[in-house]
Amino acid sequence: MDERICESCKNPFFADANLSICNVCIESLFNSVKEYISENRNATINEVIENTNVKRKYINKWLREGRLDLKSKLVDDEMKKINDFKNQVAKITSLVEDKENDKLMNKQKPKFHIK
Ligand SMILES: [Zn+2]
Repeated sequence: MDERICESCKNPFFADANLSICNVCIESLFNSVKEYISENRNATINEVIENTNVKRKYINKWLREGRLDLKSKLVDDEMKKINDFKNQVAKITSLVEDKENDKLMNKQKPKFHIK
């Protein structure tokens, strides 16, 4: 632990290496990220970084600490898209199959002969 001066609010603080801003400022960054994500549910990590100006290392830190769950949310979204797509394909496939079956049935319609 070293005493440092926060780059953001200029207050002294104690921290391990790698941190250039104090906990108070980190919390306020965290809140802006949280707010951004709640308003932009489909945002990617890069969009979050671009739009909040929060450095990636802090986002990585929150992901590591489990305070942010970007990854699983993104995966969930992707899974949902994939499942929607699968359902659509299944629907179309069954429609096509029905049509094909109809055609087949028509072809195989027994022909009646009058004796
Ligand atoms: Zn600060």
